[in-house]
Amino acid sequence: MQKIAVIGSGTMGNGIAHVFAQNGYQVNLIDLHEKNLEKALATIAKNLDRQIAKNLISEDDKNKTLSNISTFTQTAEAVADRDLVVEAATENEAIKLDIFKLIDSHAPEHCILASNTSSISITKISAVTKRADKVIGMHFMNPVPVMKLIEIINGYSTSAATTATIVELSKAIGKVPVPSNDYPGFVANRILMPMINEGIFTLFEGVAGVAEIDTVMKLGMAHPMGPLQLADFIGLDVCLSILRVLHDGFGDSKYRPCPLLVNMVAAGKLGVKSGEGFYSYTHGTKELVVSEQFK
Ligand code: NAD
Repeated sequence: MQKIAVIGSGTMGNGIAHVFAQNGYQVNLIDLHEKNLEKALATIAKNLDRQIAKNLISEDDKNKTLSNISTFTQTAEAVADRDLVVEAATENEAIKLDIFKLIDSHAPEHCILASNTSSISITKISAVTKRADKVIGMHFMNPVPVMKLIEIINGYSTSAATTATIVELSKAIGKVPVPSNDYPGFVANRILMPMINEGIFTLFEGVAGVAEIDTVMKLGMAHPMGPLQLADFIGLDVCLSILRVLHDGFGDSKYRPCPLLVNMVAAGKLGVKSGEGFYSYTHGTKELVVSEQFK
């Protein structure tokens, strides 16, 4: 396996392209818009410079990594000779189903089709292709060049050979693959999202404030970030959509999203990406400042 395509060049796609290219794979990076591809290449170059500053890689490694990446806006042509396609486009079921229909009809027969989805069923995605045995989840963590874990999601029809290939490939790029079966939220988000939701309920019910809740979990449980800060980092809209997948998928009220989370998303308070969530990010310092709403 040498030739990889990565679909979507956003937060996750640029990191996935970076890691494969740095490990000597030829990467076709695809996005709908040229400007997103330019931004992704600039981000990859900046992250490689960070690795140089830490003496982890040389200038030569940086140049080789960048030369392993080609960019495309046409998916059909970019997947035509690939061994693996990793889809990291927007978390929207209709978008992903369209992409998988398209790549199934243009990628070679042997090509494995992987999705980086956080919550959408791999079985459902695989059912729109004619190669369900070669469809699998590769759930990378953010930031991809730094985080070691890849959750490997076996859909209902994923073959053992496909899983074995992807497990080996994940090790070859320096990651730790952990297999999981295809049920809502897989392992990571099934455990993480109820914890974040409970943190939000704890605030909503006035048990404690934003900083207090996060401090208890940081100092008491040795978590590097409290649940509310982590929710801001992930994006409150993303947290809400994953909770809805858990709630719909299991039909269990324990996954109902906290009304405060629903309200914040409706108000456009999405966390770091919108400048405000539980904390405010518009003051230009690295200091954690609780949003006015929660003071
Ligand atoms: P993002 O919004 O940063 O990037 C998505 C990119 O996909 C955009 O550049 C968009 O233009 C592109 N795109 C959309 N439709 C496309 C199409 N049809 N063809 C080609 N490109 C297309 O999103 P992200 O945060 O990078 O998330 C991508 C995937 O990774 C999602 O499935 C998400 O659930 C998953 N994920 C995200 C995180 C995270 O922390 N952000 C972590 C793990 C997994």
